[in-house]
Amino acid sequence: MTIDVKAIRNDFPILERKVYGKPLVYFDNAATTQKPRCVVDAIAEEYYSVNANVHRGVHFLSQQATSLHEASREATRKFINARTTNEIIFTRGTTESINLLASVFAQSRLRQGDEVIVSVMEHHSNIVPWQLQAQRYGFVLKVIPINDQGELLLDEYRKLFTPHTKLVAVTHVSNVLGTINPVSELISIAHAHEVPVLVDGAQSVPHQPVDVQDLDVDFFAFSAHKMYGPTGVGVLYGKERWLDALPPYQGGGEMISHVSFEKTTFNELPFKFEAGTPDYIGTNALACAIQYLLHIGMDSIAAYEHQLTAYATERLLDIEGLRLFGTSQQKGSVLSFQVGNIHHFDLGTLLDRMGIAVRTGHHCAQPLMARLGIEGTVRASFSFYNTTDEVDALAAAIRRIARMF
Ligand code: PLP
Repeated sequence: MTIDVKAIRNDFPILERKVYGKPLVYFDNAATTQKPRCVVDAIAEEYYSVNANVHRGVHFLSQQATSLHEASREATRKFINARTTNEIIFTRGTTESINLLASVFAQSRLRQGDEVIVSVMEHHSNIVPWQLQAQRYGFVLKVIPINDQGELLLDEYRKLFTPHTKLVAVTHVSNVLGTINPVSELISIAHAHEVPVLVDGAQSVPHQPVDVQDLDVDFFAFSAHKMYGPTGVGVLYGKERWLDALPPYQGGGEMISHVSFEKTTFNELPFKFEAGTPDYIGTNALACAIQYLLHIGMDSIAAYEHQLTAYATERLLDIEGLRLFGTSQQKGSVLSFQVGNIHHFDLGTLLDRMGIAVRTGHHCAQPLMARLGIEGTVRASFSFYNTTDEVDALAAAIRRIARMF
């Protein structure tokens, strides 16, 4: 394993905590990751020594805060290799990024009879925003099915395209199955039909290198809090020519060029989509998180988490009665499972009492649960700060609980 996990764990004070007198084992990283000291310190330091509203101020602090905010946009651009900072829109998170796009794309380009393709493994954040707009504008959603391993059926995907297809919105990595979707292939198929693609990168950006130009993706959404950054900040990447062509989302300060009661003109990119005071403290903290990730190295992170997930898969499959959901060839660091007849909620609660934090339930993917014919799973999701010892603790705890039932 290529990274110094012991040193890394020292950067995360929360990992030293005990819960119910047991050492914390934090396996809920797909929901949110813990924060390294440098990210938390950056938040405190900016409030203590820089804080001022950005963009509109002539004074020193405002200019310094603006520099930090815009430096974060540049760090984010570089991190996903966008062409220009005009393509980086700061939002509150993946959910807001997708709602933004759904709203402005539908308003300007979707009408009765049009079609948007999503997949059955989407998080509700990449279903409901489209449904809300579909009710308003009368377009329909078409759904890419999966096989029993949890992989998208590409032949079925190809068949969904018609002259009415206007957009594909699909997740990069499933937050339930861990499937890493072949997004390059999905995008080139869509582009062959001249259809743009939104990729939900909430579960990919924290775990693997992402290059939006290499993917040739049109829109890409992710959240800072799932990548060791603060809550309340996210990103919508969009190709400049797309963002230029779309109307503004919310109205307010920052997104305007000139306002009169007769006519308002809008600011240029990226500000056109950023109404109101942005979370400039949060964006600076996101830049610190990016710097932290780059210091470890995204390739090293991907390699370590891949090995850890393979180890965990082996250990869990060794447990009698354990059923794993999602066994795709290309898989991220998420394991969803059930054990015998134990209800997922009971299993999660008992694991918690042993200090092990996992998530239980439908994981905001009820259509996927319906496809799998289940109500929910227990989900363990890993980070580079997790260890094989912690995986052993999980396996031992599950065995203990299974014996109790
Ligand atoms: N998309 C996926 C695949 C997710 O896993 C999540 C969160 O779990 C989201 C979207 C929503 O992210 P957020 O709540 O940060 O907006």
